[in-house]
Amino acid sequence: MIEKGKVYLVGAGPGDPELLTRKAERLIKEADVILYDALVGEGIKELFPQGVKLVDVGKRADDHTFPQDEINRMLVETALKYKNVVRLKGGDPYVFGRGGEEAEALRKAGIEVEAVPGITSAIAVPEHAGIPVTHRGCASAVTLITGHEDPTKGESALNFKALAQMRGTIVILMGVSRLKDNVEALLAGGRPRDTPVAVIERGTTEKERITAGTLGNIVGLAELRGVRPPAIIVIGEVVRLRSILK
Ligand code: SAH
Repeated sequence: MIEKGKVYLVGAGPGDPELLTRKAERLIKEADVILYDALVGEGIKELFPQGVKLVDVGKRADDHTFPQDEINRMLVETALKYKNVVRLKGGDPYVFGRGGEEAEALRKAGIEVEAVPGITSAIAVPEHAGIPVTHRGCASAVTLITGHEDPTKGESALNFKALAQMRGTIVILMGVSRLKDNVEALLAGGRPRDTPVAVIERGTTEKERITAGTLGNIVGLAELRGVRPPAIIVIGEVVRLRSILK
């Protein structure tokens, strides 16, 4: 009987290979097979050992190459064939990465799984751009949300009114395609138009680009500059600190 493998759900961090954890680096080096996402940085791919089996799961918000069910199935099948399976995901595997779903599917199939934390883009990307997500006297809370839901639909899981009225920083992931809807929902909920906003594309990489404005003008600015995913959207007074910290 073949011995079942173990799957490591590994966070690859926001892009810069130096922001990989030591554990992630070791697991990558020891892997028999690596299944990685589109968000895994090019510099990190250079660390993949020669001869390791690679599977590009390449799933993006705009182009669902593999449905999640299929990825789950693929992970189970791979673990039945290989001993050390690394499922490498951008940022942290349990922050909007569907890592929890993958772990669940593996557990259900009786396969050993371990989540290895990574540095999430939600915090590291603003930080690298000179924006602390919390700051004394300025933001005592930070809320991470997905920008992928339709805020105009009644069944949206997010209460934008409550979000708009809670003082503190809002960080939106997967928010480029619905930027306008999200901004409008926050304005309708009562966030002032002059609230500072920054959109950071490909943070911590050489291709990083920051578009800064306010809730009132960010949609136009993002269109003008052709903002593309992956990007982090930061909303709140902390964005002003960029002028001092960067
Ligand atoms: N698990 C990941 C998030 C996956 S959801 C994490 O913890 O970082 C995918 C979203 O992450 C993208 O749509 C984008 O909003 C964000 N993202 C990931 N890496 C990024 C980067 N280098 N720059 C900007 N945004 C990034």
